[in-house]
Amino acid sequence: MREANRIVSRILDELGENVRPGVPTMLFEEISRARCEEYGVRPAFLGYQGFPFALCCSVNEEIVHGFPSKDRILAEGDIVSFDFGVVYHGFYGDSARTFGVGKVSQEAEKLMAVTRESLYKGIEQAVPGNNLYDVSAAVQSYVEEFGFGIVRRFVGHGIGAHLHEKPEIPNFVPKGMSGVPLKAGMVLAIEPMVTVGGHEVEVLEDQWTAVTKDRSLSAHFEHTVAVTSDGPKILSLSE
Ligand code: MG
Ligand code: MG
Repeated sequence: MREANRIVSRILDELGENVRPGVPTMLFEEISRARCEEYGVRPAFLGYQGFPFALCCSVNEEIVHGFPSKDRILAEGDIVSFDFGVVYHGFYGDSARTFGVGKVSQEAEKLMAVTRESLYKGIEQAVPGNNLYDVSAAVQSYVEEFGFGIVRRFVGHGIGAHLHEKPEIPNFVPKGMSGVPLKAGMVLAIEPMVTVGGHEVEVLEDQWTAVTKDRSLSAHFEHTVAVTSDGPKILSLSE
């Protein structure tokens, strides 16, 4: 899983290096597929429940599951979220990052910074003896401090020999439910999706692209994290 996630991270690094005004979002799909071939890995999302691309590429008010397109040209001030996964020797890697295109608004900068930091607040709680919802609570309280919205419809997940395993990892604490105890050896994909406005989601006619109902900006950061007796180990890092 370390190797699968290292490859995901390297590819996300390269996608980020290519984010600039004037490029079509299909470029990122092409890079992702080419690197999968080079590394000898399978893109995890291509064909997953019928998803038609290797990469989820979501711009501005798109939260997640956006389609790369040759007609969608990135413009200065956009933000673009890449969610990417691979399968390596039967094991999955999954990670996401949001990038600014050229110079973005202060609000967009703040949204990206808060979303990214909320992920790290959640990761800190991914230790044996804690409860799963300690992770959720840490993400939620950090995000809400800034008055941003937390998407509820999509959640993180366990990961391993399947892309989506139990448990679901909400980025908020579900009322009246208790989370499972965290144990060494669990691997979690923690993935806050945060909006400048409300948490409500709409899915576009393509049946995949999830956008904020109020069309406010949305950011998404995700890491695959192993729970170990030495604390959380982020697997989706490049080196
Ligand atoms: Mg993902
Ligand atoms: Mg995921």
